[in-house]
Amino acid sequence: MSEGDAATVPGSLDPRAPGGRDRRLLFAPRRHLILAPHFDDAALSLGGTAALLAAAGLTPEIAVVFGAEPPAGDPLTPFAAAMHVRWGLDRGAVVRARRAEEDAAAALLGATVRVLPFPDAIYRGDRYASEAALFGTPAADEADLPGDVAAALGAGDSPTADRRVYAPLGVGSHVDHQQVFAAGLALSSLGQDVWFYEDLPYAGRRDALASRLTAVAAQGVSLAPAATVGVVSTWDRKIGAVLTYPSQLEAVFSYLGVRPERDAIERTLRGYAEAVGGGVPAERFWLLASPRG
Ligand SMILES: [Zn+2]
Repeated sequence: MSEGDAATVPGSLDPRAPGGRDRRLLFAPRRHLILAPHFDDAALSLGGTAALLAAAGLTPEIAVVFGAEPPAGDPLTPFAAAMHVRWGLDRGAVVRARRAEEDAAAALLGATVRVLPFPDAIYRGDRYASEAALFGTPAADEADLPGDVAAALGAGDSPTADRRVYAPLGVGSHVDHQQVFAAGLALSSLGQDVWFYEDLPYAGRRDALASRLTAVAAQGVSLAPAATVGVVSTWDRKIGAVLTYPSQLEAVFSYLGVRPERDAIERTLRGYAEAVGGGVPAERFWLLASPRG
């Protein structure tokens, strides 16, 4: 599906509309809950928007879904152990250190943080013990996980115009991003106000967004652009927040073949954001265009 097609879906909002309307849409609810599969996803993908909300006095809350400690007593897979080496963190320190990075980023953005009680995919037994598995199909025995995540976020709450939830689109197909996307879909299907954000660094690869939209369309899910939020006024704050994750920068930006240095990171993120915003840095959001049939 191209953007042009998406914009013609009934009820969708034209992504090329003047920024004023999209800003009004952004600021309409009083509460803003950002679902981040991992420590770092919120700053990377929608840090500029989070800082805009904070500047307007609407303190966004970041819920890190897969931020729990590795289950005590379970051995790490060699794959998980290799990740720790890459991050320069050992098992005893990994969650504490990553939480401290998240807190530093959130303080810069003006957000608060809570961590849900689910461990990262690399700690869930040996289901995801390779790069291929981590970016493959979620394990069949985890079919209940999106529902559990949605329940932890108050899926049973009655929909309210007062709260918007931001969920990842799942671009790049990391299994944890797919699970939180599914949780976002569940909340959206219940009538909750959910905007899906474009996952970075994954969306920075050529055609990654289009292929994700095609994949979800094949599952019967039609998404349409909800808003394109200009983030020029909070851009420096976003970059500052992204740089508060020293343990992750090498792994995150090597995905795009970019050295983990400030200038290269800024240039890469700006290139994507300006492509989204037609020359000015922006972050784009999508919504469910029609119920799944
Ligand atoms: Zn992530």
